Formats: sequence, C-alpha cells, structure tokens
Amino acid sequence: MTDIIKEKFPGVITQEPLSKHTTFKIGGPAEFFYKSKTTDDLIKAIKTARELDLPILLLGKGSNILVSDDGIKGLVICLETEGIEREGSKVIVEAGLLLGRLVDWTINNSLAGLEFASGIPGSVGGGIRGNAGAFGFELKDSLESVEALTPDNRRITLTKDECKFGYRDSIFKHTDDIVLTATFNLQQGDKEKSQALVKKYALHRASRQDYSIPSAGCTFKNIPDQPIGKMVEDLGLKGKRIGGAMISETHGNFIVNKGQAKAQDVVDLINLVKEKVKVKYQIDLETEIQLVGF
Ligand SMILES: Cc1cc2nc3c(=O)[nH]c(=O)nc-3n(C[C@H](O)[C@H](O)[C@H](O)COP(=O)(O)OP(=O)(O)OC[C@H]3O[C@@H](n4cnc5c(N)ncnc54)[C@H](O)[C@@H]3O)c2cc1C
Repeated sequence: MTDIIKEKFPGVITQEPLSKHTTFKIGGPAEFFYKSKTTDDLIKAIKTARELDLPILLLGKGSNILVSDDGIKGLVICLETEGIEREGSKVIVEAGLLLGRLVDWTINNSLAGLEFASGIPGSVGGGIRGNAGAFGFELKDSLESVEALTPDNRRITLTKDECKFGYRDSIFKHTDDIVLTATFNLQQGDKEKSQALVKKYALHRASRQDYSIPSAGCTFKNIPDQPIGKMVEDLGLKGKRIGGAMISETHGNFIVNKGQAKAQDVVDLINLVKEKVKVKYQIDLETEIQLVGF
C-alpha cells in the first residue's frame, strides 16, 4: 500500500509528527502527510484517497485541534491553497489561506468587514467550518457563499443560508463536505480605520493571553452570560497543571502546553474542568477544540 500511496501522492511524507503542524505543538505522527497547494490538486488528492478507502483528515492551520499521542492512521491533507481574487466588493479566497493574511489583503485593497478575524490563527476553511468569531462578529456575517466538495466528489456552491451557521457551528461540522473556496462580500473601507481596529483587537487579545505559549484557543464553547473563564477561575483551577498541560493563569478557558505536554494531559485537564463545572454549576461543557485520533 505504501508504494501505491507514494506513487499517487507525489511528495507524501510518512510518519510526520503532527506536533509540528498544530498550534498546541502536540500530536503523534500522521501515517501519510500530504500538502495540497492548489484546489485542483486538493480535489484530486481527496478523490484518490476515497478510491483507495484511505481515511482522510484535513488540516488547515491546526489551531483548533488536539491530535492524539498515537497519531492519525491514513492520510492527513494539509491545505496550502492560498489563492485570492477580487470582483468588485467580492473577495473569492481558497480554503487554506490564513485568516490574518486575508484580513491584511482586504485592508490593503480598502475593503472592510473582516478586521475582527485578524488575530484568529486559523485558515479560511477551518474558520468557516467552525464559524470563527470574535468581538461580536463571525465569519458568516460577510460571507456570501461557499464552494465545497461533497462526499460523492461533486463540486457544489452553498449559499450562506445553506451553510446553516450557528455559534461555532456550520453544516460542515455535520457532513463530510470539504470547504474549497469562500466568497465574502465586503464594504468599501478606509485603510487607516481598519488598521486602527486591528490594532485595538490585537491589544485586547494580548491583554488576556500570551499567544506565544502553545494552545488551541478556547477549550470550551462559551455559554451566554456565563463566561467559562470566570467559572474556571472561581473553581480555583487557573494554573492547574497535569503533566505538561496547564490551565492558563490569565485566561481560564485556555489550556496551554508548557513544554512536553501529551495529548492525554490535555484530555485529563478537560475532563477535570468538565467534572468540577458539572458539580458546582450543573452545566455540561462542550469542547470547542476538535479531538482527533482518539
Ligand atoms: C491563540 C488562539 C486564539 C484563537 N482565537 C479564536 C477566536 O478568537 N475565535 C475563534 O473562533 N477561534 C479562535 N481560535 C481557534 C481557531 O483558530 C479557529 O477555530 C480556526 O478557525 C481553526 O482553523 P484551522 O485552519 O486552524 O482549523 P484546523 O485546526 O486545522 O481544523 C479544525 C477542524 O476543521 C477541519 N477543516 C480544516 N479545513 C477544512 C476545510 N477546508 N473544509 C472542511 N473542514 C476543514 C479539520 O479537519 C478539523 O476538524 C483560536 C486559536 C488559538 C490557538
């Protein structure tokens, strides 16, 4: 099988540590690891993997996942599709582009509406799947449509309504459809005003959490009027450590990797917080981070 895969996926790497490709810097090896740089190549790779019955895991920027210490069987496809083009007020962008780069591009082209996403370290595709948001805005707000690949390999266009966006949710979390490109409809902007907004958001983020410490962002989905960070703080869990994983001392909804954290250390901390919150507040927390390979 390995020979067939090497032939069908030129440049494929075997046993690639996924800790190198996640913001948590945690995760065992991918059996096969392949980078797609164009949407056509991505579609071809997915079709081929499906023909070979090879399990597929898509990886954007790896900023919302916890990969198990045992790694991933099958093929991990890392999206490096980064094309971007403009048609009037519309911007059509490939799924692998870093949100921050999309924001910079739109500001340089005097388009406004995506500034809130500047500090979210994910890709457009990963962001759409989870309807990434911050500061009261979500990606869906300025989205017009999404081009996707269905499980039976059809290339379709979904309107914003058909994407069924919710809080950190979309249809892509409930189907095996793959986000290929997204079309945003933006407003005419003022470069300086947009840059000032980006700066304001960056300062706010820096005041809450040091982003240079590896993490995967908020561990749990927030609940209206009940900030999880505050609950964790009131439970005295800030700074709680299991192995190399620790609940952030500054942001109770962040788990950070203090060095050699194992995925299991993070899972144990997640379970500890869930248990304590359930006992004290009778609330079942839902993890925002995707656990893969467990
Ligand atoms: C420091 C830090 C701060 C963060 N702040 C925020 C924030 O303010 N707001 C927020 O919403 N999130 C935040 N996040 C979380 C994260 O950045 C977002 O969820 C982001 O959208 C994930 O994108 P990604 O490309 O990294 O996805 P990945 O982690 O690579 O993948 C996540 C899931 O999406 C799937 N996926 C990836 N690409 C595609 C695709 N093209 N089609 C279909 N499925 C796909 C993967 O298979 C996986 O299941 C933060 C994370 C960190 C580390």
